[in-house]
Amino acid sequence: MLFANKRKWIYEQKVTGPWQRLRKWTFALLHLILFVTPWLVVKGNPALLIDLPGRRLYLFGAIFTAADTIFLLFLLLFLAFSLFFFTSLFGRLWCGFACPQTVFLDTWIRPFEEWIEGDWVHRRKRDEAGWSFDRLWRKTVKWAGYLAISVIISMSFASYFSGARALWSGQSSSVEYAIVAIFTAIWFLDLAWFREQFCNYLCPYARFQSALTDAETLLVQYEIPRGEPRGGADAKEAGRCIECNKCVFVCPQGIDIRDGFQLECIACARCIDACDIVMDKIGHESLITWSSMAESQGRKPRRLRARTVAYGGLLTGIAATVAILLVARAPFDASVQRAPGSLFILDADGFVRNTFLVRVTNKEASTTPVPFHIRVDGLPPEDVTVQDFTLGTTENATIPMVIRMKAEADLPRTIPIQVLVSSPSHDVKLDATFKTEGNIGTNTP
Ligand code: SF4
Ligand code: SF4
Repeated sequence: MLFANKRKWIYEQKVTGPWQRLRKWTFALLHLILFVTPWLVVKGNPALLIDLPGRRLYLFGAIFTAADTIFLLFLLLFLAFSLFFFTSLFGRLWCGFACPQTVFLDTWIRPFEEWIEGDWVHRRKRDEAGWSFDRLWRKTVKWAGYLAISVIISMSFASYFSGARALWSGQSSSVEYAIVAIFTAIWFLDLAWFREQFCNYLCPYARFQSALTDAETLLVQYEIPRGEPRGGADAKEAGRCIECNKCVFVCPQGIDIRDGFQLECIACARCIDACDIVMDKIGHESLITWSSMAESQGRKPRRLRARTVAYGGLLTGIAATVAILLVARAPFDASVQRAPGSLFILDADGFVRNTFLVRVTNKEASTTPVPFHIRVDGLPPEDVTVQDFTLGTTENATIPMVIRMKAEADLPRTIPIQVLVSSPSHDVKLDATFKTEGNIGTNTP
């Protein structure tokens, strides 16, 4: 079905207006985040780096490891409920203002296309005229430009996984560059040809958004009571639709919003600005607005509804839980296990000896090494032999620890102990067991 019909190319007319200015500012902010963040350094580490082979996330000075997977779960929940919350309030805000495809098409691709091939009328005429040298060189330059843009986009996304400096200076592995090449090809295909078909046929968000909206949700819509009936000698005077079709000409999805809400609409608000220009000239307001169906039916809008309160409450709950977990989170991972080879040893001086291995990974972003100290809760220091140590950022160490207890006749076979690993800012308690031979005899295992 997807490729059953010939590709119907959309030649959208350029439009300006308050909504497009707002989108441009939003796009500029998103570009700043995408292109600048991978180059930032916080306490000697990347500000944001997803190190998949090392199973680490560097996030503005904090380092998360596989032991922090709970935060990933909360992050996914937060993103999912944010999407639900904002969609239930503002409809497809994401599609028109933050979707990477929309952002790159409107910021780079469409202006570049217009620069090389001219406005929508010239583009259409040249394409309809068939192949010529003029059309060939323009297409060649345009696609070469698209390819360069796709490389920059793919490299910038990959910088979050490979590190911007290593990637852009050619020091990353051939596998990483191969992945960049694959994503470049995908971006090129999408930006040069697939475009709105992705929204119409592949994007899952467009499919389930109707389950997230209701009559109170803000949508881009044509106000039928003001706009209809269209045309007629008195349309201008009455402020009805004058059938100029400007709202259709500017639509990058190739739809007519006057036919009602459609899944193809990405809420880019181009039709609002277009109709605003037209209606402003005849002294009326735009017939296309960002409003709810309730408002267009003359009812008072209700922003607070059961679903928005529920989504908002869940978002607040998730944010509060994450804040509490972050405050309590130790900036290092620690674990203790028995040294392989022996449960316990009876020393000649009448003590029982257990040997453990304490493994510590430092997750604190710091330019100086962090000192660590290990002790056992309730035992005097002379019964515990373990060395203090320091670790740099992301370094780990396995420290041997020997614990001795007097072999009293009534010692149980298993004694629970708590090992405390301390950095200057946090203590982590680890549960372990001290093994003895109990009160049976004195044989050494
Ligand atoms: S109908 Fe309007 S808001 Fe929807 S995609 Fe077309 S121009 Fe954008
Ligand atoms: S831009 Fe406004 S006046 Fe023109 S056709 Fe669209 S709705 Fe009607």
